[in-house]
Amino acid sequence: MADDISGQLDATKVPRYAGIATFARLPRLEDVARYDVAIIGVPFDSGVTYRPGARFGPAAIREASRLLRPYNPALGVRPFDDQQVVDAGDVAATPFDIPQALASIEQRLGAILADEAKFAVLGGDHTVALPALRALHRQHGPVALVHFDAHLDTWDTYFEAPYTHGTPFRRAFEEGLFQRDQCVHVGTRGSLYAPTDLADDSAMGFEVITADEVGRAGVADVASRIRTRLGERPTYISLDIDVLDPAHAPGTGTPEAGGMSARELLGILRGLEGLRLVGCDVVEVAPAYDHAEITAVAAANAMYELLSIMALDGGTRSGAEQEGSK
Ligand code: MN
Ligand code: MN
Repeated sequence: MADDISGQLDATKVPRYAGIATFARLPRLEDVARYDVAIIGVPFDSGVTYRPGARFGPAAIREASRLLRPYNPALGVRPFDDQQVVDAGDVAATPFDIPQALASIEQRLGAILADEAKFAVLGGDHTVALPALRALHRQHGPVALVHFDAHLDTWDTYFEAPYTHGTPFRRAFEEGLFQRDQCVHVGTRGSLYAPTDLADDSAMGFEVITADEVGRAGVADVASRIRTRLGERPTYISLDIDVLDPAHAPGTGTPEAGGMSARELLGILRGLEGLRLVGCDVVEVAPAYDHAEITAVAAANAMYELLSIMALDGGTRSGAEQEGSK
């Protein structure tokens, strides 16, 4: 660990189940002089169309992240040692006014970018991806986009409302926030409203890698397809936990049968090493529908892999390579 980096609480000295939960028992933003990555909760679910409850997602993911250890052997990286990661707490987003909430979220995420740091969002429903992409666009221009989800989330409106958890990527397309043809949905499945759903989505430039294709092609091939499509562009990964089968993530708002396993998801994420990941989210964890923290544990581990990709992109690989060469 670099001298100026403050890592996790030492689990050999303080039991993992003790203390107030920050993500992975990392320091709070207030506790450090500088930081590279801020994990930030967005407890907002006023955009849901079915089961509510993702406003309790950030707290559940933090609780389920207590067991995350310092070293990621799959990627040979120490995600909390090679970069300063902090828990920045939660955005205080109003539940009563969606545009106002989106403005609050964008402002707070923009402040993290202004500190020359990256953000990693704990949702919240999927509406929160829109202000995240807006904040990133001001810094990076159109980003490449990887969207893990059972659903397309490119529908137009619900009850004539434009800002919902089923519409963030339609709005993002209209606002030019991501790079056309450098965007991909992964894990898509389930019933649609009409064939035009797919045609509209394709017209926005998305490639679709369905859950069935993940099963047929395998984890390595899917990761390779994603990397090839995205290239070197600054990339945002938006991960709706309902990309997992309900057996692997029951605690979510709009479950769909036939999804990928947690092992497949983590495998694909590990295969995305080398992407220029400038921001990410893990959203749609609704703990009231969860059992034994199945969903929250999966979400915490997915976030760990995303933070590992960020660490590898930071140019501080020496520690990881030494570990890997042993
Ligand atoms: Mn979804
Ligand atoms: Mn979604």
